[in-house]
Amino acid sequence: MLPYGRQLIEEDDIEAVAAQLRSDWLTQGPTVARFEEALCQETGAPYAVAVSSGTAALHLACLAAGLQQGESGITSTNTFVASANCMRYVGARPSFADIDPETGLISVASLRSVALELKAQDTPPRVIVPVDFSGSVADLEGVREVAKEFGATVIEDAAHALGGTWQTGRGKRERAGSCTFSEMAILSFHPVKHITTGEGGAILVRDEGAYRRLLELRSHGITKDPARLERNEGGWYYEQQALGFHYRITDVQCALGLSQLKKLGRYVERRRALATRYDTLLRAVPFERFLRPLGVPKGVDSSYHLYVVCLVRRGGESLEDVAGRRRVLYDGLRARGIGSQVHYIPVHRQPDFVRAGLGDQDLPGAQAYYAGCLSLPLFPAMDDGDVERVVAAIAETLDVGA
Ligand SMILES: *Cc1c(COP(=O)(O)O)cnc(C)c1O
Repeated sequence: MLPYGRQLIEEDDIEAVAAQLRSDWLTQGPTVARFEEALCQETGAPYAVAVSSGTAALHLACLAAGLQQGESGITSTNTFVASANCMRYVGARPSFADIDPETGLISVASLRSVALELKAQDTPPRVIVPVDFSGSVADLEGVREVAKEFGATVIEDAAHALGGTWQTGRGKRERAGSCTFSEMAILSFHPVKHITTGEGGAILVRDEGAYRRLLELRSHGITKDPARLERNEGGWYYEQQALGFHYRITDVQCALGLSQLKKLGRYVERRRALATRYDTLLRAVPFERFLRPLGVPKGVDSSYHLYVVCLVRRGGESLEDVAGRRRVLYDGLRARGIGSQVHYIPVHRQPDFVRAGLGDQDLPGAQAYYAGCLSLPLFPAMDDGDVERVVAAIAETLDVGA
């Protein structure tokens, strides 16, 4: 079975973990800070806080942004549920912006109109979480404009985009997660992502004060910093200064993360090469009548967490018809030993969001995209032969020759 994504663990990764296991520190040791330093180097962000998952990173980012009970935030509906759940964890209400079906990325026009609606209801957005879907950085300059207009904090969900870059309006190349156009960004190190720590995540952050808060919130809201203590009762003394969580990552995980991060460039190059191979094969006749590769915006150099194709909607076809053909494709690939996945079921249509009164809006871009999208296998250990096998299986399943 060829999965849609999987980790690539090499001998030096295993050695790095073994060395950490033989050291004095399994957790709360120096390897966590070394990994954070390497993440800053890689992304250009001023500070990084490594945590137990990307979801924990989103939760702490919302807390550090000061998002409160009863307040509002906005994210893209084409994302993993965690990008919206993080707001619910602090008692706030997520709203959803529509996407551009050509790219799967947040539509800034829709973002602005949702923000205006929220303002009219006296709950202007306090946070905006744009998602770098599939490895393409979202229009962070556009998002930033809206955020300024409404006084919101921007948390870039860069879980898909480590290693990706984009060009600003002024022609400067920026890295995903750099925090140049956002206050914070988050990463995930789940095994399907670009690099893995098993489970793990990080918050990249621009402001030093927010960075110090995040460090405390990661570990119960406890501090031993003499400058922060209200009293000092001895060498053993610590204080809980805020309600924090246990979201720490271990040194063993960070040893793996450090080792993986050294290969990020090679892994991303391999993903890009495989994506180019898919593009070449799928843009050729007769495939172009059946499906198209997801668009990448001009100026963006995607790091290709996912390789998404969209079934072409034919004249007279309903979205249900398209979804029916997508189902046939998914099942046909599966029957041929090829895994694929749908990214994503629009979050605003998840039953728990609908029941909480947070969903069920009319978001036509997301609905059109969702009906026909499918993520094909893409991971650095794949070879060109695997890509050819997937494309041949698509041709058979869709009866492309007919
Ligand atoms: C993976 C992912 C997350 C959550 O990361 P975890 O480490 O699994 O908690 C959040 N947002 C997006 C877009 C993701 O792909």
